[in-house]
Amino acid sequence: MVFKFIRSIFNRKVNPTITINCLNCNKIIAHANDEEMSPSFKDCYRAGNVAVPNCGWFCSQECVNQFRQKHNIKFDRDENGFVDYYNDAGCKEDLF
Ligand SMILES: [Zn+2]
Repeated sequence: MVFKFIRSIFNRKVNPTITINCLNCNKIIAHANDEEMSPSFKDCYRAGNVAVPNCGWFCSQECVNQFRQKHNIKFDRDENGFVDYYNDAGCKEDLF
């Protein structure tokens, strides 16, 4: 009994990995823990996934639009009509 308890403590994950899913369709976007995200934030961004601060991730602009319609939430749009909060975070420059 005591041995089982001690073993359970050692087996406990110190830095658990979470799965990041699209808030609309639940598609897996990445896995992350306190230190890293895989694929990386920039790779997800480049792949067309959309991160919304204090909200979460969407796999595509299409899912952002569906989510917005379902929940009547308004997201900021850029000049092209896209939801893109990280345009200024240096993600886009790396594309070119
Ligand atoms: Zn999606």
